[in-house]
Amino acid sequence: ILEAISLEADLRQALTRGELLLHYQPIVGVQTEHIEGFEALVRWNHPVRGLVPPAQFIPLAEETGLILPLGRFVISEACRQMRIWQQQLPQANGLSISVNVSCRQFVKDGLVEHVAGVLAETGLDPACLKLELTESVLMHNARHTARELNRLKALGVKIAIDDFGTGYSSLAYLRQLPIDHLKIDRSFISGQGANGESREIVKSIITLARSLGITVIAEGVERADELERLRDVDCDNAQGFMFSRPVDKEAAGRLIRDIADAACGGRA
Ligand code: C2E
Ligand code: MG
Ligand code: MG
Repeated sequence: ILEAISLEADLRQALTRGELLLHYQPIVGVQTEHIEGFEALVRWNHPVRGLVPPAQFIPLAEETGLILPLGRFVISEACRQMRIWQQQLPQANGLSISVNVSCRQFVKDGLVEHVAGVLAETGLDPACLKLELTESVLMHNARHTARELNRLKALGVKIAIDDFGTGYSSLAYLRQLPIDHLKIDRSFISGQGANGESREIVKSIITLARSLGITVIAEGVERADELERLRDVDCDNAQGFMFSRPVDKEAAGRLIRDIADAACGGRA
């Protein structure tokens, strides 16, 4: 408990002291292996603890409501950074930036207004911003969810369902809600979990998504044989340690600079 209290006080200060930063993990085309975008992942550069991973403070941020200012920081910082890359590097043209949005942020009014404000301020093409929501968000309050998602879509941003396959939600919402991408949870993709049964699940998800015009991103691709299987089932995009761990903005900028010129243009 004491630990949690001191962490809460620290986290409150982290926001004002600029101790939060973003790392970026590339998302590549399965067929081309070219970078098509990045996912922004928050980190806390704690003065004593060092770089703290999100699993150790996002739940606390959600409980305390600090997720609201934290989430606003992440959205604006991610959009600002992608806009800078797009202005400075021709290879960044058309790259997308994916941002995680937690349930509390989504349920609370003001997300749409904040996103609209950030897009206007940064000048980022709305189609380059992808908001990642988990299945739990969708099930929370169906009517509110549908309305908010439609308002976000009206801005031109894309919607992705994160960790797909881990929630226990109805598949019906996929048809009813304006969803652009599904991210298949890494438990179906990598390591021990990537057994025959998982492969069938992945195949079914892709078939379902195809029929609904939704593109599919595989999370947690660590090995070449895992990528090969995704190629076989015609998965669209992949993300994982095989391509790159999440890296700081300097390293991400270098990854963008390294994108072959031939890969520029003609991106989805
Ligand atoms: P996520 O959105 O599903 O992000 C993917 C996580 O999987 C990242 O962990 C990433 O480092 C990890 N990962 C990527 N490729 C591989 C792989 O090949 N193998 C393995 N074993 N892991 C891989 P990270 O950065 O620790 O983030 C964990 C979770 O924290 C995220 O899961 C997301 O739910 C949450 N999170 C991160 N940043 C934010 C944020 O800004 N806001 C909110 N609300 N949540 C965030
Ligand atoms: Mg995510
Ligand atoms: Mg995920």
